[in-house]
Amino acid sequence: MLKRKMALFKLLGFTVSLDVSWGIILFLVVWSLSKGFFPSYFPGLSMQTYWIMGVVGAIGLFISIIIHEFSHALVARKYGMKIKGITLFIFGGVAEMQDEPSTPKSEFLMAIAGPIASFTLSILFGGLTQLAETMKFSVPVIALLSYLSMINLLVAVFNMIPAFPTDGGRVLRSLLWWIRGDIHWATQIASRISLLFAVVIVFTGFMHMTGGNAIGGLWWILIGSFLFFAANASYQKLLIKESFEGKTVRHFMNPAPVTVPSHITLQEFVDMYLYRYHYKMFPVLQNGKISGLITVQMLKLHTHKEWKHRLVGQVMEEQNPSNSIAANTPIDDALNKMNESGSTRLLVVEHSKIVGIITLKDLLEYIALKMELETIP
Ligand SMILES: [Zn+2]
Repeated sequence: MLKRKMALFKLLGFTVSLDVSWGIILFLVVWSLSKGFFPSYFPGLSMQTYWIMGVVGAIGLFISIIIHEFSHALVARKYGMKIKGITLFIFGGVAEMQDEPSTPKSEFLMAIAGPIASFTLSILFGGLTQLAETMKFSVPVIALLSYLSMINLLVAVFNMIPAFPTDGGRVLRSLLWWIRGDIHWATQIASRISLLFAVVIVFTGFMHMTGGNAIGGLWWILIGSFLFFAANASYQKLLIKESFEGKTVRHFMNPAPVTVPSHITLQEFVDMYLYRYHYKMFPVLQNGKISGLITVQMLKLHTHKEWKHRLVGQVMEEQNPSNSIAANTPIDDALNKMNESGSTRLLVVEHSKIVGIITLKDLLEYIALKMELETIP
């Protein structure tokens, strides 16, 4: 399988990885700096110099973004949020949080830390540019410093666009959350504002395009659409997370599933159970106790002729760690287990006794219902 990201290095306990999309962006940055930005603002240098400036500029941008993400990660860690690592991808970087902030204050500080870092870098490089100019440094050095000052300001401003899940969107949500003390409401309002902003950005893009600025307009449309989908997706993710918060397998299991006795033949099983209930999995009852399960897949391994004399008890799968789960498992972990094992139906076990079954279908139907009742607007 193709790996989407590549681990680069570890610093202060965080692993920094590179998404494959960054390869493309890196090339584009070097190319547009060497062919466009530097020659037009600082003319008269050799092509070789421009290429070197382009590479150094891209490395500077790369380090700046890592510093931006590290500020998020460090503040998050200070407030007890677990950070899986830092990944650089096509639209900059992302500090991958494992859990959501628990207070408006921690979310606010965590979110604002990145733009503050970028803004500070911008001022720092701006000061260095001034210094380099007064000390009559060579043109490439001045050009690079002023580029880094400008690009960091751009990163800070772009990230402060209040469109969830950008830093600005998170800042907005934390303020709303703080005002009413209701994270659910805050998320909903922040998402609506985000979608509005995204639409405005796309609209601005169309205005630029009709005004003759095709490339510029396309960029606005691209960024606007990205923000639109990201805002929508992160809101839905949050809704799912919220609806599963603190809930365990027990909440969603079927405590009285239709069971099949082990002593009937496969043919009887098909006629009396499969065609009647249309489930894909049935727990099997042996001596009055559930001891395993039978699925449509297992049935398919035997010919119709065999169905006549083979018993359910001979074909069934005994209960084992891969087809069962403890009743007190958090739903998140149950979903992970289904995802990893590929089995979407599990036996639920409590004190080494089977107390029910849980299916992915039930979980999905629950999410769909929840979405229908709470989706925006
Ligand atoms: Zn950020």
